[in-house]
Amino acid sequence: MYRTKTCGELRLADAGQTVTLAGWVQGVHDLGALTFVDLRDRYGITQLAFNEDTAAELKEKAQRLGREYVVQATGVVAERYSKNKNLPTGEIEVNVTELNILNESLTPPFTIEDNSDGGDDIRMKYRYLDLRRNAVRKNLELRHKFAFEVRRYLDQQGFLEIETPILVNSTPEGARDFVVPSRMNPGQFYALPQSPQTLKQLSMVAGMDRYFQICKCFRDEDLRADRQPEFTQIDCEMSFVEQEDVLQMFEGMSRHLFKTILNIDIPTLPRMTWADAMKYYGSDKPDTRFGMEFVELKNQQPDNASRELVESIFPEGFGVFDSAAYIGAICCEGQAVLTRKQIDQLTDFVKRPQIGAKGLVYARVQEDGSVKSSVDKFYTQETLQVLKDKMQAKAGDLILILSGDDAMKTRKQLCELRLEMGSRMGLRDKSKFSCLWIIDFPMYEWSDEEQRLMAMHHPFTSPKPEDVPLLDTDPARVRANAYDMVINGVEVGGGSIRIHDAKLQQKIFEILGFTPEQAQLKFGFLMNAFKYGAPPHGGLAYGLDRFVSLFAGLDSIRDCIAFPKNNSGRDVMLDAPGYIDQSQLDELCLKVDLPEA
Ligand code: ASP
Repeated sequence: MYRTKTCGELRLADAGQTVTLAGWVQGVHDLGALTFVDLRDRYGITQLAFNEDTAAELKEKAQRLGREYVVQATGVVAERYSKNKNLPTGEIEVNVTELNILNESLTPPFTIEDNSDGGDDIRMKYRYLDLRRNAVRKNLELRHKFAFEVRRYLDQQGFLEIETPILVNSTPEGARDFVVPSRMNPGQFYALPQSPQTLKQLSMVAGMDRYFQICKCFRDEDLRADRQPEFTQIDCEMSFVEQEDVLQMFEGMSRHLFKTILNIDIPTLPRMTWADAMKYYGSDKPDTRFGMEFVELKNQQPDNASRELVESIFPEGFGVFDSAAYIGAICCEGQAVLTRKQIDQLTDFVKRPQIGAKGLVYARVQEDGSVKSSVDKFYTQETLQVLKDKMQAKAGDLILILSGDDAMKTRKQLCELRLEMGSRMGLRDKSKFSCLWIIDFPMYEWSDEEQRLMAMHHPFTSPKPEDVPLLDTDPARVRANAYDMVINGVEVGGGSIRIHDAKLQQKIFEILGFTPEQAQLKFGFLMNAFKYGAPPHGGLAYGLDRFVSLFAGLDSIRDCIAFPKNNSGRDVMLDAPGYIDQSQLDELCLKVDLPEA
C-alpha cells in the first residue's frame, strides 16, 4: 500500500499510530536540530517532523527534498509543540522513520500556494500545477458536487440520462459551428453540436418522457469572460408539459442545489416578463440583488418593451432632451455626496465606445429638498421638483439620466450605468443570491446584419397560443413560450415549450426566411418525426460552468473548468489547435494554404 492515510485526515486522536502518507513537498523548513517538511495531497497538508532522534542520514535526505518532490513517508503521529490553528491537521505531526522519494520535480514556475506568484498565462500553460493549488482544486470539487446533485435530483424525478452524438450535422440559425471533415465521405463534414436540441426533442418523440444530459456543447463564437468554445450544459427535456410544469420542476432543482451545496433556502422565484425586464432594467438578465429600477421620463417610441407613449416631463429648452426619443433615469440612494470628479468619471464610463452614450445628466437632491442639476440653466426648480417626485428621490439622492434616439439602445446604456452604480455602492455582494424567471420573450428579433427576423431563442420554440394569429400580421410582436432563469444578472439557463406540430414548424421556418425546400433539407428529419405522433414537450438547458462559477463566487467561468481555453480559443497547455500533416490533409481531401512559417 502506498499510503494508509491522506494528508488531510490525521488528528490529535490519532497520536501514537504508525501511518504512511504520500504526496508532494510543499516546503522544507530546516531549523538545524529540527527539520519539518510540509507534505500535501488533495486532502490537505501534514507536517512531517525530523527531530533529534531521527537518524542523521534520514534527516539529510529530508533536507535535500525540493519543492513538489513526490514522497512517501512512514512514521508515528505525535502531538505538536506549537500548534497551527489554521490547519485541520495542525495539532499533530508525523515523526518520520522512513522516507522514499517516489519522484523528483523541477522547480515549479510559480509557487503552489493560494496566492500564487504566477500570472494567468503561465498558470494556464502549467495548468496541472495550477490545479494543485487549493483555490482552483476547490472549484473542481464544487463542480463535481454540483453535477452530482443535479443527477441526484433529476434521477429522483424520473429523468433518464441519455447520451447524444458529438458528430452531428451543421445547422443554420444559432452560432457558428465547429466542423470535422469526414474521411470516409470526402468533401463532407460533421459539425459538433451547439446543443443537443433536436436530438432531445427526438427522444421525446421516442417516448423517453424525461431526458437529461450533462454534455459538452460547442460554439465557434468570439470569447468573453463567461464564454468558452466548448462548455457544459445540463440539458433537459420533458413530455406532456406546459411552461408551468417546466418552471416548477427546475425551480425545484435550483432549490435543491442551493440547499445541498450552499445550505441556502431560496424563496419562490419571482417571474418577470421580458418586456418589464427591458423596461425597468434594460436587460433580459437583470441583476435583482438591488432595485434602482429605470423610470421613463419620456418615450416617443412605444416598442415591445413599453407599449405606451410617455410624455416628456421636461418642457422644451434643452436640445438634447427635446430631440431624444427616450429619456430614462435611475435614482441612486445617498449618492448626492459624489464629487464632480466622480460624476465626470461616470460620464466617461457611459461614453466609452462599448457603452456609447453621448453624455450623462445628473441631479442632486440637496438637504433642503431643492434639486441641483447639470441642466439647471434649462429648467426651472419646479420642473426639477417634478423630476424628483417622479423618481421618488429624497434628500441626499443622486438622479442619473440618459437620453437617446433609440429606446432599446439607451436602456442598454442605462443598464450598464445601473450595474456600475450597484457595484460602486456595494450592492452586488457575491454571497447574496437573487434568482428569478424571465418569461414571455418575443419569438423574433430583428437582425440588422441579416436584414430579417431571427428566432430569439431558437426556431423550435412555440409561440404563445394567443399570439399565433399575429404570425400572419405582425410576427415581430409574437411572444414565445420561452423562459430564462437569471441569478444575480447571469442567465444560468433557458428553454421553451416546443412546437410539436409539423405544419406550425414549417410556418415558423418560412417566417425565418427558409423556403420549404431549404427547411426540408435542413430540418426534414425533425418535421418528419413530428408526423409520427410527437407529444407536446418542452425543456431547458443550464450552463453548468456559469452556474458553478456563480456558486463559487468566481468572475470567470475559466476557474471552474479543469483545462480551459484562453481568449483566442487556444489551449496553451496542449498548444491546440495545431497544424496537421499533409498526409492527414490528403486523406481528408482537404487543401489548406498554410501561412508562411
Ligand atoms: N438548446 C437550448 C440552448 O442551448 C436550450 C433549450 O431550449 O432547451 O440554449
